[in-house]
Amino acid sequence: MAEDKLRIESRLAQIGSVSEPVTGAINYPIYQATAFRHPRLGQSTGFDYARTKSPTRTILEEAAAELESGDAGFACSSGMAALQIVFTLFASGDHLIVSLDLYGGTYRLLERILSKYGVTASYVDTNDLEALEASRQPNTKAVFIETPTNPLMMITDIAAVSAWAKKHGLLTIVDNTLLTPFFQRPLELGADIVVHSATKYLGGHNDVLAGLIVTKGKELSEEIFFLHNSIGSVLSPTDSYQLMRGMKTLALRMERHQTNALAVSNYLKTHPQIDKVYYPGLPEHPGHQVQSKQSSGNTGIFSFKVTDARYVEPILRNLKLIAFAESLGGVESLMTYPSVQTHADIPLEIREAIGVDDRLLRFSVGIEHSDDIIADLGQALEAARIEVEQGGCAHG
Ligand SMILES: *Cc1c(COP(=O)(O)O)cnc(C)c1O
Repeated sequence: MAEDKLRIESRLAQIGSVSEPVTGAINYPIYQATAFRHPRLGQSTGFDYARTKSPTRTILEEAAAELESGDAGFACSSGMAALQIVFTLFASGDHLIVSLDLYGGTYRLLERILSKYGVTASYVDTNDLEALEASRQPNTKAVFIETPTNPLMMITDIAAVSAWAKKHGLLTIVDNTLLTPFFQRPLELGADIVVHSATKYLGGHNDVLAGLIVTKGKELSEEIFFLHNSIGSVLSPTDSYQLMRGMKTLALRMERHQTNALAVSNYLKTHPQIDKVYYPGLPEHPGHQVQSKQSSGNTGIFSFKVTDARYVEPILRNLKLIAFAESLGGVESLMTYPSVQTHADIPLEIREAIGVDDRLLRFSVGIEHSDDIIADLGQALEAARIEVEQGGCAHG
């Protein structure tokens, strides 16, 4: 296929731009139909019932598979739906090795729901091959990685872990939400399955909830196809269209997110009210080298610790341009407080052991001008400093 030779920017811009023979439409239409007429007994147009396969969703799924260098793509009603489908590959008695620092919803799914079906998980630093080896049990079936992790931005060497997993007959599953296939393609590094919260960078505009799964290999692709159709948490035609619309500008957005995040993290790391900045794009970050080896760029998310927890409340209250809101990866800058929001479901001991404490803020840097973002942070930090100095206590 000629498209295979195109660079990723071109392939992204052209998602769904198939030569539709009737009208020549440049973007793929929304087919709302849930049922498809059969030409005659024993024949099908390839579409029978929309949960199984639906034309607009198919265009998105093919694009996702192609972008991630996989064999099949599956569009789901949310990132969590995608994760649930993937975890349903496992059965009672199976064990998973999972990244220590993890999206809170994934932890909740494993600990509160999968656990009811007898699937257990150990949380380890997936960058430590000795720790991986020590946590491997006779019933271990897979390694689940986030890299970078959310919110602490720990980096795992995908090729090294996949090679180790393969040696022991385990699947490697990577949540690639934070980097997207524009910057990182885990299947090319040896992983078997990639999952996305497409709600984040892929959609990119904080206006569509979606998830994607991309698989490598015929058998795994057939298994996920079966689960996706049987469970039924598929993406609607309208949301499939909306997601493709967002993905067309992914390259431009990721490049801007990256430059903005670097500028803002450089500003914060020398600020007197900031203790630490966690951003893999900074050369001093412990994962910087591995990240540079396996990805072609850096995400727009980073976390930082203020020197005094009393600053948190007034900072969030005084931000003007930057919204205090959950989620990440959209064009608008958003700041969250992981210990009470996205990561509240992770027990306090685990959160504190890894550093998700009451001084940590997570910042999803948008595509606004970096000078405006820095000015907004600067005034909120200054307002917080004055309040804490004057009041000695911050009112919540
Ligand atoms: C948001 C997120 C999810 C969950 O996705 P939803 O679309 O919110 O269901 C999973 N993993 C990561 C890394 C996320 O940021």
